Amino acid sequence: MKFSKLFIPTTKETPNDATLPSHQFLIRAGFISQTGAGIYDYMPLGKIVLDKIRAIVKEEMDNSGANEVQFGFVTPLALWEESGRASTMGNELLRFKDRKNSEYVLSPTNEEAVVNMVKNRITSYKDLPVNLYQIYTKFRDEARPRFGLMRGREFLMKDAYSFHSSAEDLVREFNLMEETYKKVYTKLGLEFRVVAADSGAIGGSGSKEFHVIADSGEDTIVICDSCDYGANIEAATRTALKKEKLETISIEKIETPNCKTIDEVSTFLNTDAYYSMKAVIKRAVYEDKTQIVVFFVRGCDELEETKACNAVNALELDDAFEDDIINAGLVAGYCGIIDLPKNVLVVVDKELEGENNLVCGANEENYHLKGVDLTSIENLNYADLVAVQEGDSCPNCNGKLSYTKGIEAGHIFQLGTKYSKAMNANFLDSNGKAQPFVMGCYGIGVSRLVAAVIEQNHDEKGCLWTKATAPFMVDIIVSNSKKEDEALIGEQIYTELKTAGVEVILDDRINARFGFKMSDFELIGFPYAVVIGKKLVDGFVEIVDRKTLEKIDVKIEDVRSKILELIK
Ligand code: ATP
Ligand code: MG
Repeated sequence: MKFSKLFIPTTKETPNDATLPSHQFLIRAGFISQTGAGIYDYMPLGKIVLDKIRAIVKEEMDNSGANEVQFGFVTPLALWEESGRASTMGNELLRFKDRKNSEYVLSPTNEEAVVNMVKNRITSYKDLPVNLYQIYTKFRDEARPRFGLMRGREFLMKDAYSFHSSAEDLVREFNLMEETYKKVYTKLGLEFRVVAADSGAIGGSGSKEFHVIADSGEDTIVICDSCDYGANIEAATRTALKKEKLETISIEKIETPNCKTIDEVSTFLNTDAYYSMKAVIKRAVYEDKTQIVVFFVRGCDELEETKACNAVNALELDDAFEDDIINAGLVAGYCGIIDLPKNVLVVVDKELEGENNLVCGANEENYHLKGVDLTSIENLNYADLVAVQEGDSCPNCNGKLSYTKGIEAGHIFQLGTKYSKAMNANFLDSNGKAQPFVMGCYGIGVSRLVAAVIEQNHDEKGCLWTKATAPFMVDIIVSNSKKEDEALIGEQIYTELKTAGVEVILDDRINARFGFKMSDFELIGFPYAVVIGKKLVDGFVEIVDRKTLEKIDVKIEDVRSKILELIK
């Protein structure tokens, strides 16, 4: 391909809202163009990269034995009503009506569509298992589309759905998908980590995420320094904190003037925050109501919101406003477990179970209680609520846990029978008995990966594509295309490399100066450049490595073999 024939509108201007390198560089280097909030067009270079990633995903999915299909981007809302998700998906589900007033949605994921496809077509256990996948557009009306391709509203996802006659067979396929995904990210040339994850709105049990390691990742990943334990902080666990047990004392109310925070109370009473209860007041949102909830964790811990949301089966948790707190009869800063108003829901972190002699608020301005004994309170609801902290102990091996940042590039779920039951999709088992399909589902963020490659691989000048994702492997830069000898050698090397099967682009632009061509090379991030310039008189050209920016002089006749060696 020749630069002069390819639409590559590079620019020095960075969009105002672009904070991430991938967002800035993909726009500046002419890969993508934004048309609306969270909506992007792919220009020629962007389309090449997107298709390369798509091809790798397709190849590995096909190798795994999955079948490619394609679902409609538009799905009747009725299917979503059947599964129950019409009312639980919230505003991310974009609905609209056609001219006949029938309701539809833009597919954000396709569990309903695939169940509809398989239902009544697979009727016997003999025709199971099957895994159907597509690589197609999704739409989610994200509350905060941002970071360019990272969190779009319209995006490209690979979604796969498997059907089984037993939970064991689902586990087999789930493990096969994990291996398949590892091959995909390895082929793409990415550093990644597989971690335990929360199942979110998709539902089901047992899920794993695949994270591309990058400082700018939105997710916090907890990893162990001694074993391969890894989990999204939303699902991470630890060996329970354990300090010496205190003696049981009788409960006592003490004045703690202006001590609203755990730090203030602990300092005032000269106690360890470990032996206190921190109350976090939230408003849980359900389909048809909201509910004030008080979550209690140790004073030295923090509440993990996703765990908290799951503990009360809410659609989401919001911060409680001052009015909510007052109306519920709670006293901010002094909320405690004893004598709470009946209308609030209470959940206590499971690490506090069995504890005595604790400090907590007295539900009265400026007062706390000492000597609170949880064993004396019946019917308390305990759940895992804490956010694992750096330095905590690994639940598998007691090694030290630490944080790293990741970009969620894939997510696999063991769904079970949630959708097949809701949509009445059954098969006949070997005894002739009707059973709901056991299902799994598996997603890869194909367009998010375009951005993730750059988040992990860039410098201050621009993109550093991996070999598998680079739009072209080699950029032949003719320093001055008006010089006939330079242009001629450029063409010659171009043809030679192309014939050798190298993906190569020739920067033959007549009116672009060398500096401009060079900065385009650096911004776009082709792995190598062959620069044809001053040394041509001695029969030499320069090969530039984009990553290190190191230059080597190579004889014209050796360019082909040198490039083939480099790109191996
Ligand atoms: P997130 O937690 O980032 O919102 P999710 O858990 O909602 O993602 P899944 O439903 O698991 O996403 O979707 C499968 C994959 O699709 C994700 O792992 C991610 O790579 C990609 N993806 C999800 N939402 C977006 C989006 N808004 N823009 C681009 N890619 C996305
Ligand atoms: Mg996910």
